[in-house]
Amino acid sequence: MTALTGKTALVTGASRGIGRAIALRLAVEGASVAVHYGSDDQAAGKTVGEIEEAGGRAFALRAELGVPGDVDVLFAGLTDRLAGRPLDVLVNNAALASAGSLAETTPETFDRLFAVNVKAPFFIIQRALPMMADGGRVINISSAATRVALPELAYAMTKGAVNALSRSLAQEVGSRGITVNAVAPGPTLTESSDWMGATSDLEGRLGAANALDRLGQPADIASAIAFLASDDARWLTGEVLEVTGGWFLGPRI
Ligand code: NAP
Repeated sequence: MTALTGKTALVTGASRGIGRAIALRLAVEGASVAVHYGSDDQAAGKTVGEIEEAGGRAFALRAELGVPGDVDVLFAGLTDRLAGRPLDVLVNNAALASAGSLAETTPETFDRLFAVNVKAPFFIIQRALPMMADGGRVINISSAATRVALPELAYAMTKGAVNALSRSLAQEVGSRGITVNAVAPGPTLTESSDWMGATSDLEGRLGAANALDRLGQPADIASAIAFLASDDARWLTGEVLEVTGGWFLGPRI
């Protein structure tokens, strides 16, 4: 028996990147995983296929977040597929990466960023809680950009909101034994992190800022999520857990 045998999990934005690694890992731990995605049917199918090939259970759920009715679409599909089973683990991972620098951000891109990164997780949680088992897990993916200054101001603001949401929600649902935590990755190599290599040595410089001397891999983040989803993390709630390999801990002297 594995840590999540018999449990169900919803991972938003699980068609690629960190979300895919989380979905794969939760499935390895025994969960039946709802692989949510926005538009890329092929990538979501790949995640589900990999889980099934490894002997796990998963299904894809398409719902574009940040548009009217988004959460209704997501939960219509989820309710149908769970067929009366409770939801045990919710991982709010889907997010837009950036609206650019202060100068580049427009009111429209700012609103879109907050709609996908803040409003959608808030209302997903609101809808998920009534169908969540007591002792369930809510894990919100934040970013180390809430501690380290980066040019993407609006993005960092959305993740600050995620941290605040996580702490207050932990208080609200604690009496049900539900834990709520935020996980804050540092720079992590995914299919969409080409930007790190965009300027010649940015990837190298970001990696050199890590105590562990390299950039993160999606599986590094997924390991932390598997722990938080497990019974071993039952006494851990309301925390922002940085999973960065020790990113910008201090000057290297
Ligand atoms: P990613 O590779 O860009 O993947 C994003 C996922 O979210 C995809 O599955 C995408 O699905 C989905 N998604 C994006 N916008 C959506 C929308 N409007 N509606 C529905 N689904 C949507 O992201 P990632 O780099 O793995 O990042 C995952 C999480 O970690 C995010 O919360 C991010 O802020 C955080 N994070 C990442 C890093 C990093 O360096 N990678 C660092 C710190 C924090 P479709 O493609 O199908 O739309």
